[in-house]
Amino acid sequence: MDRLSSHRATKEVVNKHNFKFSKSLGQNFLIDDNVIDRILEGARLSETDRIIEVGPGIGTLTREMGKVAENVVAIEIDKTLIPILKETLADLDNVEVVNEDILKVDVQGLINEKLNGGPVKLVANLPYYITTPIVMKFLEEDIPVTDIVVMVQKEVADRMNAKPNTKDYGALSVAVQYYCDTEIVAKAPRHMFMPQPNVDSTVIGLHVREEQIYHVDNEDIFFKTVKASFGQRRKTLLNSLGGLGFLSKDQIKEALKEANIDEKRRGETLSIEEFASLSNAVNRIHNENK
Ligand code: SAM
Repeated sequence: MDRLSSHRATKEVVNKHNFKFSKSLGQNFLIDDNVIDRILEGARLSETDRIIEVGPGIGTLTREMGKVAENVVAIEIDKTLIPILKETLADLDNVEVVNEDILKVDVQGLINEKLNGGPVKLVANLPYYITTPIVMKFLEEDIPVTDIVVMVQKEVADRMNAKPNTKDYGALSVAVQYYCDTEIVAKAPRHMFMPQPNVDSTVIGLHVREEQIYHVDNEDIFFKTVKASFGQRRKTLLNSLGGLGFLSKDQIKEALKEANIDEKRRGETLSIEEFASLSNAVNRIHNENK
């Protein structure tokens, strides 16, 4: 079987199986050859790669990854797609489809059982209604993932990739860039999907650093500090950090002074390094007052 990534080939599969697209499952299938190639290039796919794909759909991207990688495990929630995938992936014995919800499945268990313990790359055209939970699951749960190359809504990619002092910079930028170097891989306008969604998309590459470059004493306090700092965007840090709920105004002043950060600055001006220093000061003061 040849590529599925044309309008005609996708239509044929969909009609043959009388498949009904589900809007609530974020089912917009890729129908553009070029963007599939860009995803494979962005993931620097090679024959030693073990790939996890979330949401294979009818297997368009899955097939092309299966032709190159060592193994692909594709996790698909929609059981009506399973018999279709059986057919479209029949000639690839290094590809396995798992009928599960990505947010509920034990990903580490799957990697141990089916992908030799990893390391893995996550490569997918994601269901957009759960983009952030999926990406954060892979980053926060100590899953041995080296690269995440995913199609997401354009605005989400812009936020993941944003630098301080820009309108898109926020808690998501810090959460992702705390772990990864980010890279915009390709743009994918809405006409590259069937059915056509009402948003444009971007393929983003998140390359997980081998070593942590930020010195954070307590990650829980770090993420709470970030969240509070962006909680009320127009407020100064002195005010917004009140949202932490466990430091007095004087203690917030002390933390900002210790981190060498002017109390009139706003959260969106802080680099990740500055958030790290600030959260270390917050953590120290919090521990002292326990
Ligand atoms: N990879 C295909 C493509 O590019 O043509 C389909 C991508 S489509 C944007 C998203 C896919 O994710 C759909 O196949 C959908 O059924 C699946 N999906 C939605 N929610 C899911 C979940 N919680 N767990 C696993 N798959 C899910």
